[in-house]
Amino acid sequence: NDTLLSIDGLTLDFRTNRGRVKALRDISFPVRKGRILGIVGESGSGKSTVLWSILGLLAGNADVTAGRIDYGDKNLLTLDAEGLRALRGEEVSVVFQDPMTSQIPVLPYARQMSDILYRRSMSEAAKRAAAVDMLRRVGIPDPESRVDAYPHQFSGGMRQRAGIAMSMLTGPNLLLADEPTTALDVTMEAQMIGLMRGLRDDFDTTIVVVSHNLGLIAEMCDDVVVMYAGEVVETGEVHDIFHNARHPYTRALLECDPARIADVTRKLPVIPGDIPDLTKPLAGCIFAGRCQKAMPACVTTAPPLIKRGTGAARCHLLEGPLADPSWPPAPEV
Ligand code: SF4
Ligand code: MG
Repeated sequence: NDTLLSIDGLTLDFRTNRGRVKALRDISFPVRKGRILGIVGESGSGKSTVLWSILGLLAGNADVTAGRIDYGDKNLLTLDAEGLRALRGEEVSVVFQDPMTSQIPVLPYARQMSDILYRRSMSEAAKRAAAVDMLRRVGIPDPESRVDAYPHQFSGGMRQRAGIAMSMLTGPNLLLADEPTTALDVTMEAQMIGLMRGLRDDFDTTIVVVSHNLGLIAEMCDDVVVMYAGEVVETGEVHDIFHNARHPYTRALLECDPARIADVTRKLPVIPGDIPDLTKPLAGCIFAGRCQKAMPACVTTAPPLIKRGTGAARCHLLEGPLADPSWPPAPEV
């Protein structure tokens, strides 16, 4: 079994003063062991909410109404606070978008990193040595002395490297990263992608990364989940998604010069139209309002997720009475 974590039918509302926002609906996908999975979508697609669900770090107004997240023999959605804390301390860790909010400004890295190892019966000297090793591994120069630095003494890129070192210190099975390179310039972003792939190779850590940056997804990931307005619209291995996408939304995202696919500066293009109001009753295909291929029945009948290639896509063009044999267009060569 190559599945490390499996999300099945995850459905979640946010209680707000505008009513219940149906933020995630029937989210299902596996996370395969030793691979890097990217969740891509525009803001409001629910991609970060999926990530935080895995760790039980949802906002207080979140209400999970259906589904499960299986990790080993545990359903993470039913773990109690202590169970989640133990998991977060050892097996699953997080890299945040902005290290300034996740690192403690008044403590040197040596102290913050030895605190992360508080469950281990190791001497302080051994903890310090482990911290130095990991800082070296992520490319911090002169780690024997830099380990005593405070976060503000590091540049933005160094702080993000240190953040990655902190999250890798316990040798986690699963690393979750929310827009890990957003605060960085393009050169550092490319270095960070190389660093995280290298860590995956060396430590066999499975990584789930959330991003709106298609270049980062193309360069860093093995598997891709495309989200739109709280649903998974397409999944597949990275080459399948970038060269043979089957959902009109994915195709609209990728419609541009294929030579730029691996360009890390490439952000999501603007597709005309608005995301539907998720406080209202929903019917039909969630993308119908913006889809160039929409048919009248798309507005009333929701398409199922249909298995294709290395993944699946949620579109009537692929199967059933509305199927279009000429869809998707042949891959570009
Ligand atoms: Fe477009 Fe219809 Fe497919 Fe939805 S089901 S993506 S509206 S063609
Ligand atoms: Mg987000």
